[in-house]
Amino acid sequence: MTGGDTHPHHADVPIFDPGAFRLGDEEAALVDRAKQFGARVLAPRAAQHDADATFPIETFRDMHGEGLLGICIPKAEGGLGAGYRTYCLAAAELGRYCGATALSWNMHVCSTLWTGVLADDLEMTAAERTEHDRRRSRHYQRIVGDGAIYSQPFSEGGAAAAGVVAFGTEARPVDGGFLVNGKKIFASLSGAADYYGVLCTERAEGDAASRRNTLYLGIPAGSKGVSVVGDWDPLGMRGTVSRTLLFKDVFVPEDEMLMPRGVYFRAATSWPHMFLTLSPTYMGLAQAAYDFTVAYLRGELPGTPPVKRRMYPTKQIAVAEMRVMLEQTKALWFQAISEARANPTKEQVLRAYAAQHTVMENANALSAKAIRTCGGQAMLKNLALERIFRDSRCGSLMLPWTAEICLDRLGRETLYEAGEKDE
Ligand SMILES: Cc1cc2nc3c(=O)[nH]c(=O)nc-3n(C[C@H](O)[C@H](O)[C@H](O)COP(=O)(O)OP(=O)(O)OC[C@H]3O[C@@H](n4cnc5c(N)ncnc54)[C@H](O)[C@@H]3O)c2cc1C
Repeated sequence: MTGGDTHPHHADVPIFDPGAFRLGDEEAALVDRAKQFGARVLAPRAAQHDADATFPIETFRDMHGEGLLGICIPKAEGGLGAGYRTYCLAAAELGRYCGATALSWNMHVCSTLWTGVLADDLEMTAAERTEHDRRRSRHYQRIVGDGAIYSQPFSEGGAAAAGVVAFGTEARPVDGGFLVNGKKIFASLSGAADYYGVLCTERAEGDAASRRNTLYLGIPAGSKGVSVVGDWDPLGMRGTVSRTLLFKDVFVPEDEMLMPRGVYFRAATSWPHMFLTLSPTYMGLAQAAYDFTVAYLRGELPGTPPVKRRMYPTKQIAVAEMRVMLEQTKALWFQAISEARANPTKEQVLRAYAAQHTVMENANALSAKAIRTCGGQAMLKNLALERIFRDSRCGSLMLPWTAEICLDRLGRETLYEAGEKDE
């Protein structure tokens, strides 16, 4: 509530009301924990990390205290035991307060989600399962016990991140492990993470590179031969500090495999919603642009004079249109994150592409409309909207499911069944 006012502040309302969206009690409690943390910790720090393009390392330390680094780690391993949807909803609440922190958190959490609930759904032999459970337990203990932070560098600047060809970063099998060589661009958390969850191609001398031989390795940041290079001065998502990582003859022990051989390829093909995990941040930004507009037009935005602008019919229409777009975005996204599972139907995969495209494009459309509607004073850098606008622009660019690639696949996979060709 705002002081003396009985109207609830819009930003105090959860994006997905637990009753209306039928969330379970435990799910609702975890999402609320993230929301409270976002409001209390992320919001006051967001502007400075954006201005300086610095990583919010102190926030990640605080996340450890709050249990949030282990949100998707099974309870038996000391984590909070969140599933895919709960994670998505929690990440959206964080994205509402700081896009860059939420996006970086996503990179970290995916290292636990992919090895956790997602891997549990994949076919593995009994031996693979035993090996995987043993290795992931070490990795979870680092996070739960020591507050270790993981990142997720897969982009290389070529066609590999889109899933078209094998990763150019290669792991050559050697005694006791691998020698890794390669380069990753846009590696969020570079220089801040303790482990880089690198996707690379296992390739023995003389073998051809194949996507089937993708390895997912947790490379300790301090390993000999790892370096962070280049600068980072982007339009938005500045606090992710996504610089370039170089690996030069880095020895990685076999036990640092985050998935058994061949399992990442199985995950990418049978659990496609794993790539929808970049969207929650932007769902939060879409909500934030809307929240800002409502508070601003009511003359209630903290840090601005109490001037009301809500009485103009054009403002009312603009807010109504924003609400329509927000509800459409929420409904489609909620459906897509609710039906994520192994071996989804074709319809579910197409819906996931549509959801990703919608969230990424609408987050930016909503923030652009918010600036257009609120007016000049609303885009000054002392207010959050200008940052939301820049951060939201990044969503459509994120491989492997860029907005364009989602459209490409939606069109093609709707018109062609698997294997169909024109003469
Ligand atoms: C803020 C931010 C943080 C990021 N963090 C990470 C991270 O932590 N880890 C990570 O691995 N990556 C990260 N990325 C990288 C991201 O996924 C892209 O790899 C990055 O934006 C570089 O893209 P590019 O210009 O090289 O894309 P390109 O491959 O040059 O693609 C340019 C455009 O062409 C289109 N295109 C590309 N391939 C195809 C295709 N096969 N079919 C049809 N169209 C295609 C797409 O629309 C794409 O947007 C991050 C990006 C941003 C913006």
